[in-house]
This record gives sequence, C-alpha cells and structure tokens, in this order.
Amino acid sequence: MTATLNPPITTESTPVQSSAFNEAEFDNYLMSTYGRFPIALTRGEKCRVWDAEGREYLDFVAGIATCALGHAHPALVETVTRQIQTLHHVSNLYYIPMQGELAKWLVERSCADKVFFCNSGSEANEGAIKLARKYAHIKLNIDEPVILTAHASFHGRTLATITATGQPKYQKNFSPLMPGFHYVPYNDFEAVTEAIASLNTNKRRVAAILLEPLQGEGGVRPGDVDYFVRLRQLCDRKGILLILDEVQVGMGRTGKLWGYENLGIEPDIFTSAKALGGGIPIGALMCKQFCDVFEPGNHASTFGGNPFACAAALTVCQTLENEQILQNVRERGEQLRQGLRAIAAKYPDKIAEVRGWGLINGLELAADMELTSADVVKGAMAEGLLLVPAGPKVVRFVPPLIVSGSEVDMALAAVDRALS
Ligand SMILES: *Cc1c(COP(=O)(O)O)cnc(C)c1O
Repeated sequence: MTATLNPPITTESTPVQSSAFNEAEFDNYLMSTYGRFPIALTRGEKCRVWDAEGREYLDFVAGIATCALGHAHPALVETVTRQIQTLHHVSNLYYIPMQGELAKWLVERSCADKVFFCNSGSEANEGAIKLARKYAHIKLNIDEPVILTAHASFHGRTLATITATGQPKYQKNFSPLMPGFHYVPYNDFEAVTEAIASLNTNKRRVAAILLEPLQGEGGVRPGDVDYFVRLRQLCDRKGILLILDEVQVGMGRTGKLWGYENLGIEPDIFTSAKALGGGIPIGALMCKQFCDVFEPGNHASTFGGNPFACAAALTVCQTLENEQILQNVRERGEQLRQGLRAIAAKYPDKIAEVRGWGLINGLELAADMELTSADVVKGAMAEGLLLVPAGPKVVRFVPPLIVSGSEVDMALAAVDRALS
C-alpha cells in the first residue's frame, strides 16, 4: 500500500454534541428563512436519523426526496471518500472524465441527448429557461417568448424560478418579477389552448410549457396521462418546447427512473437535482439534440459537474441499478399507499385522499377540519417519524428509496398513532 498523508477514514459518525447545541444561539446567527422543527439531527444510517439528544427517528423526508440511498450508504461513503482523496474540484476549463461518464449514463437511460451540470434544482430550471428563451429567439424568431407554467407549481427560489412558480406566496415582496411567464391550471388542457390564443401577438408567442410530471410542493398531485399526451401533440404541432421539472420526481422516486415515463410522453428539455447526488449537491439540465442551442460562453457554473459531485451521482445511478432499487420503490410505494388508504378509512372525517406514485405520496387532510399538515407532521415526530408538509393540507411521504417493508409498517403505525 502507498503511504498517505490523510488520516485513516472510518465510517463512524462524529460524536453527538448534545450539550453544545443551543437553538437560541443558532437563531442569533442564521437568517430566519426557515420555520424549523425544534430538533437538531446529528447522525443517520439507512432510513434512521438521530437528534442531538440521541432520539431515533424513521426518516420519511430524506432531505426532501434527496437522500435516495438513505444515510451513510456504504457505496456513497466509499466513493466520496475516495474522490476527495483523489481530486474533488477543478474547473470546466478542463475535461472532467467523471462528468462525461455521468452524462453518458443519463443520456443512455433517458430521452435526452445532451446534459449540462449545475448544483441545484433552481439552477437547473434557470438553465432550462435560458435554453428555451435562446431557442425561441434563434430558431423560432420570437421577440418576446412566453413560458407557460402551472398554478400550484414549484420550480425553485431564484428570481426566475419564483416567477415560474405559480404560487403567489413565494413571490410576495420580491417584485418586479421576471417578465415572460404566464400561469395555467394544472391538468387542464383547454386552459393551455386558451392561454396560447390569448397571449400570441406578432411579437409575443408561447415558446415553452414548463411543468412537473407530478406536482410535489404543490400538494403531491400526479399529472394526468391524457393531459400530457394532448400537450405533447399540441407542442409538436405548434413547435412549442415541452420542459419537465423532474427535480423532485426524477431519479427513481416514482418507481420509474423519470417521472415522464408515467405519462407516456417525452419532454424536449428536463431538469434533475434532489436525488441525483443522493444528498451531495448536483443538478442537471438535459435536452434533445434539436434544442441544444447553447454555445461556449452562453451558460456556466463554477461548481457544476465537479469530480466530487459527479462521482457521488454516478454512484447513486449505479446503485439504483445494482441493487434493483426501482423495484423496491414500486413495491414499498404500493404497500405505503394501501396502508395509508386503510388509515384514511379509519379516520374518514380527518382524511380526504391518498395519492402518489412510487415513493412520493400525499395524505390530503379534510378541508373542513382545522387539522393542518404541520399538526400531523408534529404528531408523527412525537411518534418517532419524520414527515414533511406539501402545502397546508397535504402530508408528504418521501422516504429513502431503499426503505424496507418493516420500516413502511412502522411508519404507518406511527401515522395511525399520531392521528388517533
Ligand atoms: C426542490 C425543487 C426545486 C428547487 O430545487 P433546489 O435544489 O432547492 O433549488 C425545483 N423544482 C422542484 C419540482 C422541486 O421539488
């Protein structure tokens, strides 16, 4: 073995800092951007996490649909350890072999021909917006391209992506927003044709439609197959780009690698982030050959696609296949929905609906009850289960994709106790 200057790597986690952690002090230094739950998580393994006081939780949040392989997965630990000892960051001034390998994996398993790497979902969507606008200008000769997005959508927190996000609560006090966006109700085909007819003038035209295959933040609302098939035909007929935001549902979350595979169509452009790196920040913008209109200098990202992030993402990709994780997603998803439906039948006054694909599922609370998703999340936390709201009335279940059958049963029991 060659000698190394690095200390030996162990997979043991850092010691718990129970006495050192102080919420009030934390809040002194951090901007108040998050409404945090009053626990501090300090360690994780598979689908379990532990807080600073040593309490154990079943993690059905997974960093919001991000830790696809759960916590401390041996393959990911091994890869990032090796990569940081070898080369973790250079620059896109040079070829990065790992980036090429990851792009090849993604292209071979999707409808995309080309990939651009960045660091987050927002940044991937920003790239998609820029790509669609450039395509509209140079290929469609549109002076003022408009992008249609949906009510209750979520596309990120940058200025362009809060504008794309069809929810006023994310836009409030941040005006002036970006021009060139228009909102339509989700899963409503007539609304799209009406919007196109009312918006198009000599200079202004609808150039792209940006949608989530299933609306995540907006309440776990799956897209209708019929709606997306008709949209695809409309886009083909009118030369409009169909862009799908796969940031939350891509990378196996729905039981298929990409959300669009549930809809019987292919997008022209799509984005990925969250689960792509299994918790190591990376985002991707992908497109078909015909709309690959970027040229050197048009778009860039300092960190985007560095060796560290790409090695992590490639490991996530390969592990999804090697461990047949998509099969697990379909089976555990079915088990979870059946269990949630049984709970819904037990509390018909509290629960309105259970819906989702694979391991992204929502429990919608009855509209006429005072009960909010935050109440249920807090109740479940007290029972040792972490969940996340998707709006005020929907509780979201997005566990690691490696979750086991017994863990799903434990989560269901905790939800039942929380509701009773
Ligand atoms: C989380 C999310 C984003 C934003 O991703 P960030 O990495 O937080 O910038 C965009 N679109 C969808 C559908 C998301 O779920």
